[in-house]
Amino acid sequence: MCEFCINHGEGKKWYRNMTNYTRELFLQVSTDKKLKNYLSNFAQSLHDGLVRAEKWKKRIPYIYSSLIYPWITHHQKKTHFGQVLPIEDVEYILDGVNSVVRLPCICRRINSGVETRVCYAVGMDTTHILKDVPDFSQFDRITAAEAKKEIKHLDTEGLTHSVWTFQTPFIGAVCNCDQDCMAYLFQYRKKLAKVMWKGEYVAIIDHDRCKGCCQCLKRCPFDAVRFDRGLGKCNIEVRNCYGCGICRPTCSEDALVLLEREKVPQVADSW
Ligand code: SF4
Ligand code: SF4
Ligand code: SF4
Repeated sequence: MCEFCINHGEGKKWYRNMTNYTRELFLQVSTDKKLKNYLSNFAQSLHDGLVRAEKWKKRIPYIYSSLIYPWITHHQKKTHFGQVLPIEDVEYILDGVNSVVRLPCICRRINSGVETRVCYAVGMDTTHILKDVPDFSQFDRITAAEAKKEIKHLDTEGLTHSVWTFQTPFIGAVCNCDQDCMAYLFQYRKKLAKVMWKGEYVAIIDHDRCKGCCQCLKRCPFDAVRFDRGLGKCNIEVRNCYGCGICRPTCSEDALVLLEREKVPQVADSW
């Protein structure tokens, strides 16, 4: 289990602890006014934060890695932190919440100018706040069943699911991201700080089933699949695997399965 499960999970994976989605919990760590202010500046601060961090990393690489990287990570853990999760865990969350609101994806708007709605505010009803925040005021209230259907479709299209805090441990959103995602860029591509945990799982490939078509390799956004020329089959480099599970729908042979990360010794402590 990751650090958040230990601190906020009450014996479960932290995002399966439904207390973390409630207004009661929210009011212990924030207020409506603070959330409104945070969201009002959200897109701009994501963009500015990335540009600033990149500049400092280039200018003072040693100080950046020894001081600034851990400082940003520490700050994010307290304010806005995420974790990658597979579709099964998204469905578990949606089965347990009372409110689901579909929102515009800010990252895609910033990075490619694309307008799409693949962010879902879940749990506490935040529409009284969102209606006053220009970036999010165009929301749609939908049912959990509709959200499950949509996100299942996004899974087959190869979007990575994640869950996000807005003042940890309050959880406010489930996202479905591609490589325009600010968190993906910040953490994975540019290595500017840790802003999300890897998933609680890792994938493995059943070689009795794999026929080496490499569809899973093409799908993986984390460079975790390798083709073994000798065997003519693929392998998972578990140290790279984020446990998102989106490789699975590409496999016609049902050869990919997720294992609990804590049961795979090489990565049991790698978050
Ligand atoms: S985290 Fe993902 S879904 Fe959410 S705004 Fe960013 S790219 Fe869009
Ligand atoms: S998609 Fe399935 S069959 Fe193809 S390489 Fe991956 S695991 Fe093997
Ligand atoms: S190999 Fe791991 S990181 Fe890559 S798509 Fe599959 S589960 Fe996700």
